[in-house]
Amino acid sequence: MYKLKDHPEFLIYQKFIVSHKNYTTLPNKHNNLGKITWVRTEKASPKRAKWWDEKVIFFKVNSRSDVARLIHPKELKGLKPCSVCGKKLSIFYLYPNKMLLKKINLKSNEKFKSYDKTIFQIIDSLVKENNDNFKFIASIFKIISSTKNIDELKNHIKTKFVLPCKKGLLGPGVMSNAPDRLDGFHTYNGCCRETKDTGRHKSNMSKYTRDRRAFEYWSEGDFVLANSMMGQFRVYNLPFFCPENGCNRKSKPSADHVGPISLGFTHRVNFKAICSTCNSKKNNRMTYSDVINLINDEKKNLNVISWHSKYLWNKLKNKVKNNEDSKNLSKLMRKNMHFVLSTFSLINNWNNGNSFLKTFLNVNFANNKYSIYNFSPKNLNKIEYLSDIFDLQKKILEQPDTIFILKQFSDAMTKEKSKEDYLRVSFECLKEYSAKNNRKYGIICSNEQKKKLFKLKKLILTNQFDDSKDLLKSVFELNASFLEMEFK
Ligand SMILES: [Zn+2]
Ligand SMILES: [Zn+2]
Repeated sequence: MYKLKDHPEFLIYQKFIVSHKNYTTLPNKHNNLGKITWVRTEKASPKRAKWWDEKVIFFKVNSRSDVARLIHPKELKGLKPCSVCGKKLSIFYLYPNKMLLKKINLKSNEKFKSYDKTIFQIIDSLVKENNDNFKFIASIFKIISSTKNIDELKNHIKTKFVLPCKKGLLGPGVMSNAPDRLDGFHTYNGCCRETKDTGRHKSNMSKYTRDRRAFEYWSEGDFVLANSMMGQFRVYNLPFFCPENGCNRKSKPSADHVGPISLGFTHRVNFKAICSTCNSKKNNRMTYSDVINLINDEKKNLNVISWHSKYLWNKLKNKVKNNEDSKNLSKLMRKNMHFVLSTFSLINNWNNGNSFLKTFLNVNFANNKYSIYNFSPKNLNKIEYLSDIFDLQKKILEQPDTIFILKQFSDAMTKEKSKEDYLRVSFECLKEYSAKNNRKYGIICSNEQKKKLFKLKKLILTNQFDDSKDLLKSVFELNASFLEMEFK
């Protein structure tokens, strides 16, 4: 699995907090190696939880959250950088919630985005735009008096809403999370908190998971089916012995992608079951046998590689002779995938770029729904698709070592909804990906590629999507030939 670093701004912030006098007596701030232990749950460190509770009593406040805001160093003026994108947001209730923002945007020509501006900054621009907006704001925050003074209005909001952390209209830039985090706040801010998506709880999402969404949504293949199969691994709890070389650990099986999607491979159900220790050791690097398996699948006419990554794969797959080569190939393919996603986010910022990019998304897969029967990590090489649930019992009796997949049908309403969600999340995770990773890896273009991209921008603007596609493919092909030279 990929583990990407926290944003540099956040690392600076962590150092500052750890050495600040307000946290001097907080227990377990470092591990044996001297590294900061930012995350410690109540269970893992009851001492820390006790520290927070003692502070609640000491300061005579109501909650650990109150303490977190109270002891946040005054020098920082309430600002905390996001671990994902680095954006500094206030720990106080200064940001209009979604409903309020909607109302405000109906009144304003400037379309305000969540967590972009504080309520005070928004009020300033609203009133500047149209003096009548003053009344509108006053009515929202229930100010009855006939005050026309903007400072009075702001002061009212500050004392009645912001400082008492009144929920409803406004929210904080970052949710509190004491005692789990050293400073008592979530590591990511509102800007990068996930909006609702496929029922997963966002606060549990690792950075890898967030990146994975970008890989997932922009790769070819039926990701709904692949995810359903992964779900089977999560609920499987019979004894399982890891088959990886010399491991034989008894543990829960985890799904190893034979062709990882983070390297540009397609969504398929050809997982290998290995233990999670072996899986994270592999770190999304292919082994020689993975490469051979993928080549063999291609010989069976299966589509293993996404259109944007096939150039590099085709140039190098037959040059791979051992595990070391496979590791090198994996590294280059990851670089290529970064180039692909960065180019997509560049295009997304162009006029009409969004419509062009939509043509690469497999919206129809979003409607799919599957039930999987007779799952076992030992039977992953025997998968059969059923057309009818009535066959199931008989089939399982006849073929006890086969996994059966049944496609379900969803109604038109659900279909529209899941399409919309799919499109929204596709672009959301693309933005997240580039915000977080471009600092770390950057995107390097040759002059030839720059020229092509310049031409592409014009083509897309005039809706010439077929020509645009060809041109974009040639940009990716060029990138593949540069990376090919790095092989070995
Ligand atoms: Zn952020
Ligand atoms: Zn293992």
